Amino acid sequence: MKKIGVLTSGGDAPGMNACIRAIVRYGASHGLEVVGIRRGYCGILEEDFVKLGRRAVANIIHRGGTFLETARCEEMKTEEGLRKANEILQRKGIEGLITIGGDGTFRGAVALAEAGDIKVIGIPGTIDNDVYGTDYAIGFDTAINTALDAIDKIRDTAESLQRPFFIEVMGRCRGFIALEVGIAGGAEDILIPEVETKVEQLCLDIRHSFKRGKKSSIVIVAEGDEAGGAFSIAQQVWERLRLEYRICVLGHVQRGGSPTARDRVLSSKLGAAAVDALLDGKAGYMVGELKGEIAFTPLRETWEKSKELDSNLLRLIKILAG
Ligand code: ATP
Repeated sequence: MKKIGVLTSGGDAPGMNACIRAIVRYGASHGLEVVGIRRGYCGILEEDFVKLGRRAVANIIHRGGTFLETARCEEMKTEEGLRKANEILQRKGIEGLITIGGDGTFRGAVALAEAGDIKVIGIPGTIDNDVYGTDYAIGFDTAINTALDAIDKIRDTAESLQRPFFIEVMGRCRGFIALEVGIAGGAEDILIPEVETKVEQLCLDIRHSFKRGKKSSIVIVAEGDEAGGAFSIAQQVWERLRLEYRICVLGHVQRGGSPTARDRVLSSKLGAAAVDALLDGKAGYMVGELKGEIAFTPLRETWEKSKELDSNLLRLIKILAG
C-alpha cells in the first residue's frame, strides 16, 4: 500500500485533529502518502482532497473540532454515490481509507468497501462514547471535563441560593456522558435513557436531600432521557414540590475546546494503530482501546452490538449522593 485517505464524518469531536496528525506522521514514517478528504464522504464525491505532509499537520494537536471539517452526506447512502466514490478513490490511487467518526460513519465505510475494493479502517470519534468495541471514543474525555467544569461553577451558585438545578448534558440516545459527569460532579441523581425515570422517586430524593441539610441538589439529565429533557423534568418536579429551580442546558459547548491530554494520547495511539492495520492488510475493522489495549472490532459489530454502561458507577450515584 502506497497511498491512503483520511476523513472525519458525522459530529466533530475534540481530538480528531490529533488523530489526523498521528495518521499523517506515522504514515509518513512508514513511506505512505496520506491524503486528507474534506467534509467527510462529501469530499470524496466532490474530489475535495488535500495532500498531507508532516508540516501540514503542524500546530493542530491542541485544537478542537476537525481541520478537515465534517459533513453529513446523503448521496453516500445511494448505490450511485457509492459507485462514484469507489471510482474516484481508485482513480486517485487511494487504496486504504481511515474514517474517524461514530456508527453512521462506520456504516458508510462498510457500504463503501462492499461496493468496491477500498480497504477501510474506522476510528471511534464521538463525544457520546456510544460505540461498541472501545472503552473510550475520541472526544469523550474532553466533553465530560468541559461539562464538569460547568457543573462545578453551577454548584457554587446552587449552594448559595439553595435551589435544585437540572443540568442537561449531551449523549444522544445514551447516558455515558451523564453517568460520568454525574459521578464526578457529585450529582443528586442522573436521568438517563437506559434507566426508567421515576418522577415521584426523584421528588422524594430532592426533598430528602434538603431535609438532610444539603444546600443544593444537582440533577443531571441526559438529552435523550425519556422524560423529555431538563425543561420537562423540572416542570414535573415543580408541579409536585413547588420548589424554585434553575435549568442549564450545556449544549454544544461540550463538543468544543482543546482536547484533554487523555484524548490526545488516545487519538495518537488509535491513529498509529489504524495505519499499522492497513499496512498489515487488515480491513473492515474499527480500532479501539479496551482495558488499555488496542482492540479490533469488525465494523458491523460496532452498531449491531450495544455498549454497556458501567453498572458499578450506576449503583454508586445513589450511594454517594449521601
Ligand atoms: P455522530 O455519532 O457524532 O452523529 P456519526 O458517524 O454516527 O457521528 P452520521 O451522521 O450518522 O454520524 O453519519 C455520518 C455520515 O456517514 C452520513 O452523513 C453518511 O454520509 C454516512 N453514512 C451513514 N450511514 C450510511 C449508510 N448506511 N450507507 C452509506 N453511508 C452512510
